[in-house]
Amino acid sequence: MNEEAERKMQFLYALRSKGVTDHAVLSAMEKIDRGPFIRGYFTDRAYDDMPLPIACGQTISQPSVVGLMTQALKLSSRDKVLEVGTGSGYQAAILSCLVRRVYTVDRHMRLVREARMVFDQLGLTNITAFTADGSHGLPDQAPFDRILVTAAAEDPPGPLLAQLKIGGIMVLPVGQSDTVQSLIRVTRHETGYEYDEMRPVRFVPLVEGLGKDS
Ligand code: SAH
Repeated sequence: MNEEAERKMQFLYALRSKGVTDHAVLSAMEKIDRGPFIRGYFTDRAYDDMPLPIACGQTISQPSVVGLMTQALKLSSRDKVLEVGTGSGYQAAILSCLVRRVYTVDRHMRLVREARMVFDQLGLTNITAFTADGSHGLPDQAPFDRILVTAAAEDPPGPLLAQLKIGGIMVLPVGQSDTVQSLIRVTRHETGYEYDEMRPVRFVPLVEGLGKDS
C-alpha cells in the first residue's frame, strides 16, 4: 500500500474508533482531503485526528468531532443547511457532499475569502460563503432544514432557533469558552424544542460582531 492510501486508511480508522459510523459521512470524509484547508506549518498533520491552528487565531476542528457533528445532523440530500463558523471551510465541504445547499458564514472576511478559494479549487459549487455575524443567522435564506454552529455560545442564539424549520435539527456547542462545553442537538417540533446533550467538547467562542479584518 502506498503512503497516501495508508494515511487515508488510518484517518478513517480513527474516525470509526471515535464513533463516526454513518457510511455517507465516512465516504464524504474519505472524499474531501483535509490538506488544502490547512495552510502554513501544520500541513503535514492534516490527517491526524486533532484540531489545528488556522488564520485569525481560529482552529480547524478535530476530524472525529466534524464526523460526529455531521452524523448528529441526520442529513438528507434535499437539505438546505446553515453553518455558523466557516473557519477553514473543511466542515462546509463535508456538508456539501451530503446535502443540496450549504450556506456558511464567518465573522472574519479573510477566512471566508480563503475558504471560497478552496471550494473553487475542489469544484464544490453548492456552497455559498458570507462574511457575517452568524449569531443573527441568515434571515434572507431562512428557514433552514439543519443548522450547525462550530463556535461555542453560552446558550443557543434565539435567531438561530427561530430560523430552524419545524422538524429541523441544530447541532451546537454551548457553554463558556474557558470551561468544558457540551455539544447539544436541538430538534424543533411543532410544539417546541427538544434538547439532547451529546458529549463534552471544546470550541473557540462565538463572538458578536465582525472581525477586525472585515
Ligand atoms: N468549521 C470550521 C472551524 C470553525 S472555528 C472548520 O471546519 O474549519 C470557529 C469559527 O467561528 C472561527 O472561524 C470564528 O471566526 C467563527 N466565529 C466566531 N463567532 C462567530 C460569529 N458570531 N459569526 C460567524 N462566525 C463566527
